[in-house]
Amino acid sequence: MDFELSEEQIAIQDTAARFVRKELPRTKILEWVKDRVEPPRSLFRKLGEMGMYNFLMPSKYGGQDNIDPMGMLTFVEQLARASSSLTTIYGRSGVILGPLIAKFGTPEQQELVLPKVVAGEAYMSMALTESEAGSDASSLKTRAVQQLDGSWLINGSKLYCTQAGGADFLVLCARTDPDAIKQHGISLFLIEKPAANPAIECRRLDTMGMQLAPTYSLSITDLRLPAAALIGVENQGWQQMLRGLDLERLYHGAIGVGAAQGIIDDVIAHVKQREQFGKPLGKLQSVRHKIVDMQMRVEAARMFTYRGAAVLATTGHCHREASFAKISGAETFMHCAYTGQHLMGGYGYCLESGMPMHMSDAPVFEIGGGAMEIQRDILARELGL
Ligand SMILES: Cc1cc2nc3c(=O)[nH]c(=O)nc-3n(C[C@H](O)[C@H](O)[C@H](O)COP(=O)(O)OP(=O)(O)OC[C@H]3O[C@@H](n4cnc5c(N)ncnc54)[C@H](O)[C@@H]3O)c2cc1C
Repeated sequence: MDFELSEEQIAIQDTAARFVRKELPRTKILEWVKDRVEPPRSLFRKLGEMGMYNFLMPSKYGGQDNIDPMGMLTFVEQLARASSSLTTIYGRSGVILGPLIAKFGTPEQQELVLPKVVAGEAYMSMALTESEAGSDASSLKTRAVQQLDGSWLINGSKLYCTQAGGADFLVLCARTDPDAIKQHGISLFLIEKPAANPAIECRRLDTMGMQLAPTYSLSITDLRLPAAALIGVENQGWQQMLRGLDLERLYHGAIGVGAAQGIIDDVIAHVKQREQFGKPLGKLQSVRHKIVDMQMRVEAARMFTYRGAAVLATTGHCHREASFAKISGAETFMHCAYTGQHLMGGYGYCLESGMPMHMSDAPVFEIGGGAMEIQRDILARELGL
């Protein structure tokens, strides 16, 4: 299998790397993190102008004729070098929810959402998790009941809805058939400006990291949605979400790879100039070996994401590779954040080194969107266990 990047993908990589250097210097990112403010929307509009939301979008709405998972992964890896939480903002609309609307949305929903996604103007959020439905997400209880006039009445609560506060569009998962087996009675709904809806109480959660993409709880009381808010087929919401899961996992893998590579680059720069006992730390064998091991993990994780994209392109799915990529990317990020901070000593404990940001962002990639244990369970089943 050939994992060489094409000329086009190298161009994407270069463009993205230039964007990160110019628009996302460390000092700026760390200011936003410290002040808990979201990055300006103009940044994402610039990405839209550069065509970075096109990879998975149909040409009809400004995207391209064939989806390009490899292009997306190449871009995501570069963006994540600057910040994994900022990359999450991009991914909600560019990788997860925009493509979901492109596949299953009604023509009106597509018309409303997709041009904005491609332009980098749509912030999107997903409301799946509930207090009693985390890893076991399909046991969710938020209820949508269709009324005689075709509209929907929705009641329930949601947890950890990343970006729900400022979202232009929320995709809400609710139970529409309480008598069906749990995965077969769920539907998806599209809600515009959820935080401005009086039937939705949206509260920012205080979290350890991910400050650029804050997460919210939602309390939904007698929310009325028109019949036209249903995405795709009633009671098929779970199956619709599964269709995008391989790509989502590869994307998570690429975030881990990019963030970890950024850490390694910073650590190398640090240990080359920091001298102790009369020589640079980078000349000490145990330090050098730790860095080599970090790089080895990154290279392996990168191969998993590339391989997943290649398998997806030829077979249309890559469950096994996607879970390998997600585990490998997340665990590599966590390992590099910890080791990188350690190798920077006291400086690594100071906010300006960037290491505390990575240390507080990395763990969520081992939890969110299907924790490491859940991925390993999927792989165990693939192995016939
Ligand atoms: C910052 C952040 C952002 C998030 N963003 C979103 C979002 O935008 N939208 C959304 O819907 N959700 C979001 N989530 C929710 C996320 O997907 C869930 O946190 C995740 O699915 C895990 O669920 P849980 O937190 O309830 O943990 P639990 O399910 O309670 O799991 C706790 C631990 O038990 C382990 N465990 C659970 N079941 C098993 C099992 N069968 N075998 C072995 N181990 C098991 C888990 O792996 C984990 O280590 C976000 C979460 C966080 C923290």
